[in-house]
Amino acid sequence: MRTIISLLSFFIIIQTGFCQRNPGIRKTDSLIEMMTLQEKIEMIAGYKNFNIRGIERLGIPPVKMADGPMGVKGHGKATAFPANICMAASWNPELVNEAGRAIGTEAQSKGIGILLAPGVNVYRVPHCGRNFEYYGEDPLLISQMAAAFINGVQDAGVMATIKHFVANNQDYDRHRVSSDIDERTLHEIYFPAFKAAVQKAHVGAIMTSYNLLNGVHTSESEYLIRAILRDQWKFKGIVMSDWISVYSKDAFPAGLDLEMPRAQFMHPDSILQLIQSGEFNEKELDNRVRHIISTCIKHGLYNDHKTEEPDWINHKQTALQIAREGIVLLKNEGDILPLKENEVQKIVLLGPNALYTPYSGGGAAMIDAYDLVPFFEGIQNHSPKNIQVDYLPVEGLYNGYTQVNRDQFSKKLDTVKEYDAVIICTGYNPETEGEGYDRPFALPANQEWLIQKVTDLNPNTVLVINAGGGIFMPWINKVKAILHTWYPGQEAGNALGEIVFGKTSPSGKLPITIEKHWKDNAAFETYDTTHAVLGAKPFYTLWGKPHKIEHMPYNEGIFVGYRHFEKNHIKPLFPFGFGLSYTTFNLKDFSISNTKIHNDESLRIECLIENTGDNSGAEVIQLYIQDKECSHPRPVKELKAFKKVFLNPGEQKTVEFIINKELLQFYNPEEHQWTVEDGDFEILIGTSSNNIEFKQTLTYKSN
Ligand code: BGC
Repeated sequence: MRTIISLLSFFIIIQTGFCQRNPGIRKTDSLIEMMTLQEKIEMIAGYKNFNIRGIERLGIPPVKMADGPMGVKGHGKATAFPANICMAASWNPELVNEAGRAIGTEAQSKGIGILLAPGVNVYRVPHCGRNFEYYGEDPLLISQMAAAFINGVQDAGVMATIKHFVANNQDYDRHRVSSDIDERTLHEIYFPAFKAAVQKAHVGAIMTSYNLLNGVHTSESEYLIRAILRDQWKFKGIVMSDWISVYSKDAFPAGLDLEMPRAQFMHPDSILQLIQSGEFNEKELDNRVRHIISTCIKHGLYNDHKTEEPDWINHKQTALQIAREGIVLLKNEGDILPLKENEVQKIVLLGPNALYTPYSGGGAAMIDAYDLVPFFEGIQNHSPKNIQVDYLPVEGLYNGYTQVNRDQFSKKLDTVKEYDAVIICTGYNPETEGEGYDRPFALPANQEWLIQKVTDLNPNTVLVINAGGGIFMPWINKVKAILHTWYPGQEAGNALGEIVFGKTSPSGKLPITIEKHWKDNAAFETYDTTHAVLGAKPFYTLWGKPHKIEHMPYNEGIFVGYRHFEKNHIKPLFPFGFGLSYTTFNLKDFSISNTKIHNDESLRIECLIENTGDNSGAEVIQLYIQDKECSHPRPVKELKAFKKVFLNPGEQKTVEFIINKELLQFYNPEEHQWTVEDGDFEILIGTSSNNIEFKQTLTYKSN
């Protein structure tokens, strides 16, 4: 008896202590106790498309959600930030954090509690219609950007939602494609951004994806929700489905907390039946409700929203700064850029994206921009007074995809000969690149023709590519300069204008590898391009319906992006991490605190970066690691750290990196865990994946 009493009092003490330290939990539990079964059942599915249900009698308000990754959608005008791929190209997490905070603040002012962003699916093929919404091909870069964004949003009092869990790497056929991926590849390539969001940024919610993983819909996957999210990563927040992406009644048993946007398979009647039949204990339902309520309390979503006007001017500046830093200068023959007053008197712009500049791709991420400065306007804004800037209208060429008689435009195009430089604004737009479908690798045929034609007439051609990823560049030798702008948001024109005339030196670096030919890509053997055509449309009929599964084997395993190119000795057109500047840098004076590392020790690497040119600019110092010998195949190198450094001419700064065991690890599928083997590693530091300027061997020993 005495034992029972002391056990009981121990339990009570533990409980009380726990509750005192976690007022949120106590509140959640007492709310759950007061809820009726019906109220609980109704809470685990959305209503009116973008809301979690409230319970008025208990003072629980409904919680509103809104997309998305580059601005608040669906609630009037909002600042349109550059696409996430452009944010990634800035290699500047502080800036991405600012964008997150600004979007969070705008969301808060519009009464939004949950932002459906960021999107972090890995860039596997250039065709994926939603690449623009994601952060590129490298797990570390994606993780850092995602964590920075989430921290920004959540600091502004809004819950972030990382999506789409997991491996939604193509948009064509997204409802029935099964991404078939081995365990090691999941842990090394497709999971890290989600794990970082959970463990480093404490994200409030995770959205599952439309696709299946290894034959199971992700919203119905016990492996993903219970084994990975809950058991391994200790995620306590909300797991919600993507919109109409629950395909059977398996979602509830698998652990899904919230079916969006409404109850279809987690319908009150079916859940009630499961509980009444004893198949499921009410406690299981309480757990789902607990995840929802406790996370909303933790993020203050049941408190009043701040309604003050956001600082639009400041947000516009952040949008501009990201575009400035995200635009990548890929080629600059004869230093044609920046255009110089003493060399250029007359320039002309043409191309489908010059007058109206798509600031985003299409779908859930496309918002109503607060303001928009198209490329032509921005070039005019920033051109020196004595440079004449014209626009050459050949609009008919941009209508339709290939069915245009091009000869009718030839004569008009002849006038480009009269100009000192031509800027062609090419690329995709929300109708040709967006959610629910994939796009071709090459530009639309009329744009290809335009580039060939114009460069025949005027070799001083600068090409501006506005797209969510890489494109085929058969004309590369005919253009003098190439700028990749990645849907640069509402300040598109001002950022481009500043770069074209040298007010800003480009500092973006590729967050992807651009292949010379599609056949060079790791997924060439498996991804079928038949449907990645211009003007493809989403398959709405498959939403939330059972159907035949199509399998997409990820045969390349961990060798995605530069990992594939380097392993197979394929020279890309432009390597990962690459981008030019208007100034020059010298990386020097490397030092390392030790060349041996034991178990949990860490060591420090330092180097100096100096601006040796005549312009201010920024360089991204990239640290890669190579495992010299391992029981499992490893990439030639993997990005493990990076720093962006801004320097005035003649200025130099010290860059410091800390190396520890975590950076040397790989995921061992036989042991089902991350591990590091004793032996030698090469530390590689440079300014792109193919420009390594410093190598140092390091020996790791576990004890
Ligand atoms: C998209 C999600 C988005 C949701 C709500 C879905 O179609 O895949 O990314 O958050 O719609 O708009």
